[in-house]
Amino acid sequence: MSTTFDYAPAPESRSIVHIRPSYGLFIGGEFVDGRGQGFKTINPANEDVLAEISEATEADVDAAVTAARKAFRSWSRISGAERGKYLFRIARIIAERSRELAVLESIDNGKPIKESRDVDVPTVAAHFFYYAGWADKLEHAGFGPDPRPLGVAGQVIPWNFPLLMLAWKIAPALATGNTVVLKPAETTPLTALLFAEICQQADLPPGVVNIVTGAGDTGRALVTHADVDKVAFTGSTEVGKAIARAVAGTHKKVTLELGGKAANIVFDDAPIDQAVEGIVNGIFFNQGHVCCAGSRLLVQESIADEVLGRLKARMATLRVGDPLDKNTDVGAINSAEQLAKITELSGVGEAEGAERWSPACELPAKGFWFAPTIFTGVSQAHRIAREEIFGPVLSVLTFRTPKEAVEKANNTPFGLSAGIWTEKGSRILWTASRLRAGVVWSNTFNRFDPTSPFGGYKESGYGREGGRHGLEGYLQ
Ligand code: NAP
Ligand code: MG
Repeated sequence: MSTTFDYAPAPESRSIVHIRPSYGLFIGGEFVDGRGQGFKTINPANEDVLAEISEATEADVDAAVTAARKAFRSWSRISGAERGKYLFRIARIIAERSRELAVLESIDNGKPIKESRDVDVPTVAAHFFYYAGWADKLEHAGFGPDPRPLGVAGQVIPWNFPLLMLAWKIAPALATGNTVVLKPAETTPLTALLFAEICQQADLPPGVVNIVTGAGDTGRALVTHADVDKVAFTGSTEVGKAIARAVAGTHKKVTLELGGKAANIVFDDAPIDQAVEGIVNGIFFNQGHVCCAGSRLLVQESIADEVLGRLKARMATLRVGDPLDKNTDVGAINSAEQLAKITELSGVGEAEGAERWSPACELPAKGFWFAPTIFTGVSQAHRIAREEIFGPVLSVLTFRTPKEAVEKANNTPFGLSAGIWTEKGSRILWTASRLRAGVVWSNTFNRFDPTSPFGGYKESGYGREGGRHGLEGYLQ
C-alpha cells in the first residue's frame, strides 16, 4: 500500500533533559556511590551510551534498607493528612516536569514520545494524586478502624513502563505509611533517578524513598533482605516464582505482577474499524512490551477475512522509528536481549507452520528494531500462542461460537487481561464472567486508571495494584 504523502520529521527537543555523565544510588535522601562494578544505560534507538550507573551491592542494599527502617519510625507516625501533602506535592511536580520526564523515558526506554507524553507520565501523576487522596482516609477504606503499615517495602520493577511501575509501587506504599527501597530495571534506571531528585525537591523526609540501581543480583539482595517486610515485584513469571520461593516461610507479605498472554476476542457483531484500532493498540502499543498486551487475537471465523484485511491495511500506516518523533507509533525494542527473544520466538512461529506477515517498513540501521508482525494460521499448541513474546507480534486464531472463544481464551497458564469486542451488552457480560483474567476490557484495550485494581490469575501473579484494593497489600 502506498501512502499519498510523507510526514516531515517532527522531533521533540531533548534539550529539556539534562542527563548527567554518572549517577549514584539514592539512599537516605542523598546520592551516594554504589560499591558494585557500575554499568551503562543506553538509548535503544541508536545504542548511544547515556550515563554510567552505580550498581548496588548487598552492603548498599543493606544501607538503603537501614535508611528506610529509620525513616519508617517517623513516617508511619505522622498523620495521613501530612503524608498526603507530600504525595500531592510529588504529584504536582511530576505534572510540572512532565515533558522532561516523558523525553527522558523515551530516550532510555525507546517508547514513542506520543505514548510517554500522553499515557505514561499523565498516568504516573494521576496515580500519585489518587493515592495522596487516600492517605488521610485509610480508616474509611474498609480495612478496619486503624489500619497499620507493614514497614519497609522492597520493590523491583521491569523496564517496559519504568516510571509508571514506580508510581504503582511507591504511591500506595507511601500513602499507607510504609517506606520503600526500589530497584528499577537495569536497562531503564534514568527516570527513577530523576524521580529521586523530585523527592528531594518535594522535601520528602530522607529515607522514605530509596532507589538502588543494579541488575538481578541487586534485586535478589533486596527481596531477600531480612529487614524487608513487604516485597512487591513486577516482571517475568520465572523471576516471580524464584522470589516466591525465596521469601516462603518468612514474615514478608508479597505481591507479584507477572506475565500475560491476553486474548482479544472479536465477535461477528463488533464495530470492525473500532476493533481494528483496539487490536493495534492491544499489541503494538509500547512495542508490545506490555504484560497485559492483547497478544492473541481471537476473531470469529465469519468475519476473520474482513478483520485481517483491515488490520493489515491499518498496520501499513504504522510509523516505526525515532521514539522522539511526535509522529512515531512504534519505537525501539528496549534491549538487544529482548530483540533476540522476539526474533527467536517469531522464528519458532514460522518453523511451526504459522504464516508470518509484516507491512513494508524501513527500520533504522542502528538500534534495536522489530517490524509490527502478525501470524495467521496459529493453533493453540503453537509456542507463539502459549508463550509471552513481549514484542510487536500478534498471533491470530479463529473461533465459531462464544463458548469456543471462552475456551480458547482461558487455555493459557496466564490470566492477566482480556478484551471483548461486540455491540451487545449481554454478550460482554456473558463472556467477561467466564474469562479467567484479572482485567477484562470491553470495546477498548490497554486502558489504565489509578482507581481500578489491576492484577492476575494463575501464573500472572497475585495481589492487586491500583484502586482501593492497591492499599491492602501495604497494610497489616
Ligand atoms: P525480569 O528478569 O523478571 O526482571 C524484572 C526485574 O527483576 C528487573 O528489575 C530485574 O533486574 C529484576 N530481577 C532479575 N532477577 C531477579 C532476582 N532473582 N531477584 C530479584 N529481582 C530480579 O524481567 P525482564 O528481564 O525485564 O524481562 C523478561 C521477561 O519478563 C519479558 O520478556 C517478559 O516476558 C516478562 N516481563 C513481564 C512484565 C510485566 O509487566 N508483567 C514486565 C517486563 C517483563 P534486571 O532488569 O537487571 O534484570
Ligand atoms: Mg536504557
